[in-house]
Amino acid sequence: QAIRYGVNWAQAQALYQRERTDFATRRPRSRALSQQAAEHLLFGVPLHWMDDWSTPFALYVESAKGASIRDVDGFSYTDFCLGDTGAMFGHAPQAVADAIAAQCAKGFTTMLPSADAAWVANELSRRFGMDKWQFALSASDANRYAIRWARAITGRDKILVFNGCYHGTVDDVFVDLEDGLPVQRASLLGQVYDLTCHTRVVEFNDLAALESALAHGDVACVLAEPAMTNIGMVLPKPGFWKAASDIIRRHGALLLMDETHTISSGPGGYAVAEGVPADMLVVGKPVAGGVPCAVYGFSADTAAKAEAAKRAAPPGHSGIGTTLTANMLALAAMRANLEQVMTDAAYAHMFRLAQMLEEGLRAAIARHDLPWCVTRIGARTEFQFCPRPPQNGSEAEAILDGELEHIVHLYLLNRGLLITPFHNMMLVCPETTETDITRFVDVFDSLLAQLKG
Ligand code: PMP
Repeated sequence: QAIRYGVNWAQAQALYQRERTDFATRRPRSRALSQQAAEHLLFGVPLHWMDDWSTPFALYVESAKGASIRDVDGFSYTDFCLGDTGAMFGHAPQAVADAIAAQCAKGFTTMLPSADAAWVANELSRRFGMDKWQFALSASDANRYAIRWARAITGRDKILVFNGCYHGTVDDVFVDLEDGLPVQRASLLGQVYDLTCHTRVVEFNDLAALESALAHGDVACVLAEPAMTNIGMVLPKPGFWKAASDIIRRHGALLLMDETHTISSGPGGYAVAEGVPADMLVVGKPVAGGVPCAVYGFSADTAAKAEAAKRAAPPGHSGIGTTLTANMLALAAMRANLEQVMTDAAYAHMFRLAQMLEEGLRAAIARHDLPWCVTRIGARTEFQFCPRPPQNGSEAEAILDGELEHIVHLYLLNRGLLITPFHNMMLVCPETTETDITRFVDVFDSLLAQLKG
């Protein structure tokens, strides 16, 4: 069509071709490394997602520090992707780098606790208000284990998720609503079980649907991001979580909050910031400053039931945990990160700059009269191709446009600005500066001028 989401489409495609040529001609080293890597890497990359960026071939990184990335061709980027949250507190924060270096002299992994374990658990409890903690290597793993605990605790076999959610590579959650009916997500590879047997799915912000899905009395837990962030951003309506948590409790299910992305809301995540009473909570990605690690917490009551469930089970494999879980390196990194990096002062800076970004983007969109909107959760900001923020997963999905995203992302990238590849999400970290924000908004403004024509 001639106009797509307010954009002159022929012009946008011509722009994309110019940007691709520009990227390719100015990055001989990335191109050569891509060709070498293609020999023995599936899709030519170590993780096939790395092939999903807007670039004609992968951008190879030389180094990443603070808010910047340097590529192998000598270009620098201000990084608003920040490893899609893994580096939300900046790349290689000095305190974490120092703690890892010190721990390196004392060993990596022993399958025994180090002295950091108790300190970290105390600090997690102080921040997140959960009584007891366990660890995992990734947020995917933490969600998988938390679901297993919830089923073991409640003796119920089903979970409930919100349409359009993402919680990592957890099979149970890949159930979507299509024309009001649950279906397995078609993109899922190699999944042969019928996931709809044990997963219910309702739209976010729909209390009536939540109530009737829970009324069967067979849901172990509701697994949710307090605000959806993986289908574009969808904020809860005012009062949604207060009412939803009452309903969940009334039907004997547990509320499992996945704060992996919404940790952008504050040092204790969204649920603490907004006073939502959860039973279990997951945080991954940046919790150890970018070192692979995730944590999950239990309220006192839930923890007691989890311990009872384990004691009642026969000895042997629990299906929970992996050999390298809570290794000494990760614990040292997490301690340094919680103590010195993920601080209240860091959040205050991030909020101020994210607000500046939000306002700048909104003004640029208004200036060019585009039917786009901007949403923000603390340090996480997103622009979306619709005039008003979507209210649920279906609405958010309807305005995803991979082609337009690639045009936008590549234009920014060629001008030294990285944003998250799979949608239009931007994070600011403690090292992001006002100059970075001003520059982002200026480049965004010049992009909109070109798209509008
Ligand atoms: N939960 C949420 C909310 C996420 O956004 C993600 C990843 N995008 C995960 C869990 C999984 O994280 P990981 O890929 O590090 O396991």
